[in-house]
Amino acid sequence: AERWSLAGTAALVTGGSKGIGHAIVEELAGFGATVHTCSRNAAELEECRRRWEEKGLPVTVSVCDVSVRAEREKLMETVNQTFDGKLDILVNNAGQMPLKAAVEWTADEYSQLMTTNLESCFHLCQLAHPLLIHASIAGGSSIVNISSISGSIAYKGVALYAISKGGMNQLTRSLATEWAPNNIRVNAIAPGFITTDMTRNIDKNILEQEYSKTPMRRSGEPVEVASTAMFLCMPAASFITGQVIFIDGGRTISG
Ligand code: NDP
Repeated sequence: AERWSLAGTAALVTGGSKGIGHAIVEELAGFGATVHTCSRNAAELEECRRRWEEKGLPVTVSVCDVSVRAEREKLMETVNQTFDGKLDILVNNAGQMPLKAAVEWTADEYSQLMTTNLESCFHLCQLAHPLLIHASIAGGSSIVNISSISGSIAYKGVALYAISKGGMNQLTRSLATEWAPNNIRVNAIAPGFITTDMTRNIDKNILEQEYSKTPMRRSGEPVEVASTAMFLCMPAASFITGQVIFIDGGRTISG
């Protein structure tokens, strides 16, 4: 039924060339959405596009570094043209997690990370607003921000990443309040450890320690995050807004 479908919808997912973003692109397209995605690596992006075409998934791509304001504007212009001025779904997924002790961060590194992880999210929401208003999806158009459990619980070595994700959580609540009259729902997903390039090089001992604090005693897979992103965008989720949903095998509720 229409409540459980994304047929006929248009979606933008940032950072779709690998990891969680890649899984979200496939999940949304698999449930009927036409998707546009971006990343910084043209060759990798083209390889993804080719494989999606082979699988019959309707996905277009363009290169965009979301940390650059002018590139974000160009991305939304491309989306505007691709989808005739309307957008049903925006997923702010692109992000980075540099590991570094708090005392070691320079001013430039600070602004680069905050721009990449937080300002890009805010600005893309702003840019998407007129397109999301024109969406016709039942239950309202959707923004889904990919946050992290580290926006809520503390880890060593990721202080700035943590503020960027904590900021994203509050941005989610603020925009949900401000844009509810526009029929735009805004939610966030806060994953725990997910197996992607981002976590591939994390020290084995740290991972073991993490599993010991996680009731399900394992990392998650990108598809286990993508399914919730997809659900939040469906008409079936029409009364859900302003929420931060933890997908973490129970990590954040464990004593
Ligand atoms: P990956 O490193 O596997 O993938 C990141 C994706 O974003 C790639 O497509 C990458 O492509 C793109 N990207 C990175 N920087 C930029 C940029 N400046 N502009 C455009 N695209 C960019 O990461 P994950 O899939 O693990 O992470 C995705 C999101 O999930 C992030 O926001 C992360 O913080 C969050 N998250 C991840 C967790 C995990 O355990 N993996 C846990 C909690 C949250 P390219 O580098 O070529 O640009």
